[in-house]
Amino acid sequence: MPTYNFVCKQCKKSFTRTMSLAEYEKGGFVCPSCKSKKIEQKPSVFFAVGSKKS
Ligand SMILES: [Zn+2]
Repeated sequence: MPTYNFVCKQCKKSFTRTMSLAEYEKGGFVCPSCKSKKIEQKPSVFFAVGSKKS
């Protein structure tokens, strides 16, 4: 299952959520700290990790 990174625009806290694509497309996520819906998805780190430079 993919992990999505979010940052809350309200309290500036970042958090991750692991969910299926179906769940992700449903939307309606809230910040776990302040329950705000003003969250923004951060770019996935999938491509950043595991790239070997050798
Ligand atoms: Zn928040």
